[in-house]
Amino acid sequence: MEYFKQLDVKTEVSFFWLRRDLRIDDNAGLHHALKEDKTIILVFIFDPNITDELPANDARITFIYERLLDLNQQLKEFQSALLILQGDPLEVWKLLSETYKIKKVYCNKDYEPYALKRDQQIKHLLIDKGIELTCFQDHLIFEPGEILSQNNEPYTVYTPFKNKWLSNLNSIDFKPYSNPQLSNFHKFNAELPSLKSLGFSTSLIKVKDYKLMNINNYHSKRDYPALNATTNLGPHLRFGTIGIRKLISETKNQSPTFLNELIWREFFIHILVHFPNVVSDNFRRKYDNIQWRNNEQEFEAWCNGKTGYPLVDAGMRELNTTGYMHNRVRMITAGFLCKHLLIDWRWGEAYFAKKLLDYELASNNGNWQWAAGTGCDAAPYFRIFNPITQQQKFDKNFDYIKRWVPEFGTPDYPPEIVEHKFARERALSMYKKAIL
Ligand SMILES: Cc1cc2nc3c(=O)[nH]c(=O)nc-3n(C[C@H](O)[C@H](O)[C@H](O)COP(=O)(O)OP(=O)(O)OC[C@H]3O[C@@H](n4cnc5c(N)ncnc54)[C@H](O)[C@@H]3O)c2cc1C
Repeated sequence: MEYFKQLDVKTEVSFFWLRRDLRIDDNAGLHHALKEDKTIILVFIFDPNITDELPANDARITFIYERLLDLNQQLKEFQSALLILQGDPLEVWKLLSETYKIKKVYCNKDYEPYALKRDQQIKHLLIDKGIELTCFQDHLIFEPGEILSQNNEPYTVYTPFKNKWLSNLNSIDFKPYSNPQLSNFHKFNAELPSLKSLGFSTSLIKVKDYKLMNINNYHSKRDYPALNATTNLGPHLRFGTIGIRKLISETKNQSPTFLNELIWREFFIHILVHFPNVVSDNFRRKYDNIQWRNNEQEFEAWCNGKTGYPLVDAGMRELNTTGYMHNRVRMITAGFLCKHLLIDWRWGEAYFAKKLLDYELASNNGNWQWAAGTGCDAAPYFRIFNPITQQQKFDKNFDYIKRWVPEFGTPDYPPEIVEHKFARERALSMYKKAIL
């Protein structure tokens, strides 16, 4: 790692390890690090355990890289720089701890199973070398374990979770962290590695800026995909380009419906931490006997937006082209895959994970299991969205459909892959049989 050489190795330094918190303001861990320490170096590690699964031009990698360039620019004002490294984080920290005199390492907590295991291993590695790794709570308002039922058990239903969350909320919980002591960054000069030298290339798909002004009409407009009336906050919350406290303090009194959605996000993260087996298993094991049909041609048609159901196809084509899909349409496409085609929710979940710019394990898994009827607080299995009546309700003038399926209504558009009534009956009988 050539880049190491640019740092003065004789001085004792501390590191702040950026992961899903790519910002300087309202960053819990960074705030504390800069308060306690006067020699902080910001470091980001491209981890092949994650990036090897992605194409070189993955839009999320481009977004991360562009955010890192921004951060580096901000650091320059304080004669500091960002350290960008690449490799298995355990190996990287081993090397860092052998190369530098490290006082302390700071970061924010990440609750995904891979991250929890990684951080545990790194904590042990650093402890063996006499270095403390301190992780702060930043990504959520309340951590898993802080919102429990009267019996001290995790909630598995959203509404009581939400009620407890709201009753526990004090203004201090969403007070953004004040501007940190930026002059406490370690002073050094360095060039960042190029995206190409890291083995990636620039994506043409871009993460959109978020739109907080949409919160004013969120309640009445958010269900209509043609209106672009949601906030586009997904990727920003995922990669931490906005702090959750700052977001809530700016929006709290504008829309209870919007706040509810942010609570859904926390709910699913709590579920993932308390029930990590949901990653591969049905939350409700009584659905383990569903005989998924898993027809590969039908899956292919679904992925490519060629099912003959225009709202489903519009959603899949929007996803494939932009990395976004409207929430209502996510519910319809996911329900269609699981119920109409009887394809295992894990197939759809994996496809969304590959494509969504806001892909977040907890939310994706929670929502897919919700759509399949196998999850905590899921839609009951007999609630089967009719994609035609959904279109009549939420895209009645076909505005969204025309945007993504221009050949709809012409002979080039494929016939319905399966008849709705038939598929509905088939799903009902399959689910019923599974839970007998
Ligand atoms: C099958 C399926 C898969 C999904 N996969 C993901 C995913 O991988 N990552 C993800 O962040 N969201 C996921 N969602 C939830 C939701 O669709 C997206 O959060 C939302 O569409 C993102 O757009 P937005 O930021 O404009 O949302 P807005 O409507 O403006 O909402 C603001 C924020 O609230 C949170 N939020 C909203 N709805 C939900 C929800 N149902 N569950 C959890 N959090 C929510 C998100 O953080 C979102 O960014 C999924 C939903 C479904 C039905």
